[in-house]
Order: sequence, then structure tokens, then C-alpha cells
Amino acid sequence: MKNLFALLFFASLAANAPAADIVPLPDKIACAAPDRQLAQVPDRVHLDGWVGGRIAVSEANRLVKVDTDRLLEGFRHRPGRQSYDGEHVGKWLHAATLAWANTGDPALRAKLDSVAAALVACQMPDGYLGTYVVKDRWTEWDVWAHKYDLIGLLTYARYTGNTAPLVACRRIGDLLCRTFGDQPGQRDIITAGEHVGMAPTSVLEPMVLLYRMTGEKRYLDFCHYIVRAWEQPNGPKIVSRLLAGKGVNEVGNGKAYEMLSCLNGALELYRTTGEDKLLQAAENAWQDVRLRRLYPTGTASYFEFFHPAHDFPPVNNVGETCVTVTWLQLNAQLLRLTGEARFADQIEKTVLNQLLGAQKCDGTEWGYYVQMEGKKPYSQTLDGNCCLSSGPRGIALIPTFALTTDGDGAVVNLYDAGQADLSLPGGGDVQIALDTRFPSHGDVMLKISTRRRKPFAIKLRLPEWSDDTKVRLNNGAPVDGKKSRDGYLAVTRRWRDGDVLRVAFSMKPRILVGDHQTANELAFCYGPLVLAADATLSNKTTPAFTIPAADPARFVLTPEPAPARLANWPGAQVFRLAYDGKTLPFEVIPFADAGQTGSEYKVWLPVAGRN
Ligand SMILES: [Zn+2]
Repeated sequence: MKNLFALLFFASLAANAPAADIVPLPDKIACAAPDRQLAQVPDRVHLDGWVGGRIAVSEANRLVKVDTDRLLEGFRHRPGRQSYDGEHVGKWLHAATLAWANTGDPALRAKLDSVAAALVACQMPDGYLGTYVVKDRWTEWDVWAHKYDLIGLLTYARYTGNTAPLVACRRIGDLLCRTFGDQPGQRDIITAGEHVGMAPTSVLEPMVLLYRMTGEKRYLDFCHYIVRAWEQPNGPKIVSRLLAGKGVNEVGNGKAYEMLSCLNGALELYRTTGEDKLLQAAENAWQDVRLRRLYPTGTASYFEFFHPAHDFPPVNNVGETCVTVTWLQLNAQLLRLTGEARFADQIEKTVLNQLLGAQKCDGTEWGYYVQMEGKKPYSQTLDGNCCLSSGPRGIALIPTFALTTDGDGAVVNLYDAGQADLSLPGGGDVQIALDTRFPSHGDVMLKISTRRRKPFAIKLRLPEWSDDTKVRLNNGAPVDGKKSRDGYLAVTRRWRDGDVLRVAFSMKPRILVGDHQTANELAFCYGPLVLAADATLSNKTTPAFTIPAADPARFVLTPEPAPARLANWPGAQVFRLAYDGKTLPFEVIPFADAGQTGSEYKVWLPVAGRN
């Protein structure tokens, strides 16, 4: 752990390096449905609490250290060693660009510049930038890889200001527009890849971005073609089935990662054109997942597919990390578009449990399926592992939505320690410093500085798990805790430098009662954290992790400092579990920290003798 702290220290030095504000390349096309809550450029928000530490190690121990020759290998020597080899470089460019924007790390920037240039150099004369040989083009995961080329290169260009790769992006876009369509001589994009065409048509997302950046209408026409293709007789019927109230398991073949990727593209198109049915379809999918298909840790799917309602096996290739990350992106998209706190509630659940639970504490490795029990399958080999490239994307996105702004002022979505320097849409700026050991402790102090003299709101997300949140301004009486229509508590005033908001969440332990596959089992939670029993915290060599009875009222959960070997941040905690005053032979730990030493862990704890 000493190394981890050293790296955290190094990363925080990098975060403080002087750098001019990043000004992203502007779009040429204005959005018909502009964001209500503005995603932040990652250089405006620096977290240094528990989540911030995980962001730092993802950059320092994973993204900077990636073997870039391995990322480019399939492009340099076609075909790639696996059918989807081409996706990794674009995913890395996306994550590493956001991470560099957050830290300003010159080593990562140098790596970004060289990888973007090397990728572009692999483009064929006709614009092709995949890893397939000519005879196999446009099968399996070929359009899919071009999607990630575009996402990576467009993100790189947007934040670094280096527009050179945009030429390559246009050539990819032009090749796709020529190749696919419903005109004579063009190919059907639905048949150009896996999962009822949901893999290839998820290229929608960056094609919308390419349209907005270039202003070329043919790219928008291509996006409309994709939405039409979804509804073809052989298509996945994404929009029509969701609008008809079908579950996500009845859309296409129910493959979760690809479907969520398509929905993220649909929302990007909605942002651009304002076509209401796209937002409605995505919101229906969100409701369906949240109510019927979401594990308590904030992931969905097993064996990579959505399944019938309330079907939650604890193990069965549960919770692919790519699904976790695209679910997080769907929530981040909906949060930007609607400004509603309910999406930030889901972001908190997913980030603090499943996303951090899939990342090894030191940032070096990621799990593919990160299940409700077993061992965390950490790995750092790209072969056969789409998730290893997806996890860091989820982590790198956190500073874009943790603290943001909307038309009323500033918005606090996540309560990690750190600071934000936000430009207010109505003019002026505000700096917010969060002092807290959240989520180990429920007290959060927000110090405000601003030069703006007119009143504006600071909106606080009041999470559902805290049934008695107290907010005080300076040393005054509690602020009236009523939520406004967007779900936030808005404190509106003429703010002065040194104003302090004190938020106290009630961190009462909560107990989830299982049903269906987890009948006669309980799961324990503390604030937003789902907890898990961990074999390293048991005084038996082969722990059973059983609890004496299923009556939640007779359990007491007591937080205590984590033992040194598990203390990966200053606030690290484990929890002693007692039943009728008798301490159980094992302790529980946040799911995100469970299994870090290669040990067995378990979220749902069975009642002894019942299963
Ligand atoms: Zn994956």
C-alpha cells in the first residue's frame, strides 16, 4: 500500500501542475436539445477522496503504462489477433484523453500524441481503419472498431485542439456513408456485425459527434439511416419496442453492452435534432433496467444479456464491466439532457459499488464479470478482454459529472473530497471545495468562493439512502430540505467568499432482504455502499459467511478502521456485524474493496440451515 500512496501523491502533484484551461474544439452545429446540466471539462474538477484516489491510480498505473504497440498491433499487421482487437485503441484514446485533461500529465499527453498519429498512419487509401483483411471486411466487429476509432480520435482532437486526426475521422465517416445505406449497391448495416446489428449500428454515437464537429450533413443523413435500419424487418427494433413498453430483454437479442451503446448514440442524436421519441425510448429503457434488471451494486445483465424481470442470479457471468460502463454513460447522458437528480442517484450507486468494484484498488487491473460473490477476476491482458479497455473510460468520465452547472447555478452530484472551478452559465464562476471522508463518514463541508455578485443556486443531491439529511448554511439554522422539481435541494442566494454549506447524511446501515434466487439471504449496506463478506476478514480458514437468522431488526453493523493491509485510503473502513449482541465470525467491507487480495467475497449472506 505504500506504493499506492506514493502514486497518489505523485498523481496529485500532476493535478496541481499549472496548465491553461482547456477549451474544447467547438461544434459547428448547435444542438436542438441543449444540455440542462453541462458536462465539465475534466480540468475543472479534481477529486482527492476515495473516488479521486481511484481516478489517480487509473491514470498513473493503467493508462500511462498501457503497451501502445499492443493497442496498434492489429492495425499494423492485419488481421488482429482477436476479431474485436481494433476496439482497444479507440477506448484507450477516449479514456486517456479525459484522464490527461484531468491531470495535465505530460507523459500521458506525449503517449496520446504518438498513438493518435500512429493510428491515423494505419488508415488505408479508401479510409478503412480496421483490423480485418479485405475479404473479411464489414463482418463481426469491424464497423464496431471504426466506432471506437472515431470516439477516440474525436475526443483526442476535441480536448487537445490537435485537429490533424479529423481528416482521418472524415475519411472513416465517408467510407461508412459510401458503404452502408438503403440505396442500390449499398450494404445493409444490420448484417454487418453481431447481435441483430446492434454492434455495427452503435457507430451512431460518434457519427453524430462527427456531424456536429464538421457540419457535414451527409453524416447526419447516415445517422437517420441507422435509426431507420433498426426498424427494418431484420433489425433490432430498438425504438419501436421500447416505445411500446417492451422490456430491454425483448429488444434485438437482448445483448446489453451493444444495446446500451446504441441508446447512448440515440441520445446523442436526440441532443442534436430534438427528436422526442429517441429520448422517450432511452428513458423507457432506463426505467426498465432500474426497476427490473439492476443489481444492488449498479450493474445489469448476466452472460452479457438482459433477462426477464427480477432474475438476479448472484453468479452466472454477472455484471460485465462494459455493461456497467455503458449503463453509467446512459445515466450521464440522461443527467445532462434532463438535469434530473434521479440519474445522478444511479451514477452514485454504480460508481461507488460496481465500477470501483471492478477496478483493482491500485488501478493496474480490471475484472470482466464482477459478480455478487466469488473471486474478482482481475486481469491486465487485452486478449479476450473488452472490459479492460472499458473500465478506465468509466473512471475517466467521473470528473465530467461529479460537480457541474445548470441554468440555475452549480450542481453537486458526487460528494467525494476535492475541488471544482466552474464557469456559471449566467456569467462569473464559482469554486467549491469539498472537505469530507465520505462515504466512510456522512459529514461534508462545502466551502464556496465566487466573484459573481448576483444570486445563484448551489444544488445538492439528496440521496434516497439518507432518510434524514441536514443542510446548514454557515452557522445558521438548517436549510429547508425540500427538493425542487429536478430532485435537488437548491440553496439560492448572493454567495460570498468563505460561505460554507455543511451537509450531514444519515449513514445508518441498511439491510436488503433477498427474494427469488436470493430468498432467505440478506445484504448489508452503509450509506451508498453495498457491503460484502470477505474471507480476509474472517477468523475461520474456510468461512461459511452464514448469518443466524433473517430478521433485519436484530443485526447491528459497526464501522471501524480497516486493517493496514486493506487500507487503500485514509478513510478505509470495515464493518463488524453482530446479531442479538453476539459478534459474527466475519466482517464485511465495501463491495468496491472486496476481494482485492484475491480472496472469496459474498454480497448476499444466507441464513444458516435455510438454503
Ligand atoms: Zn466487456
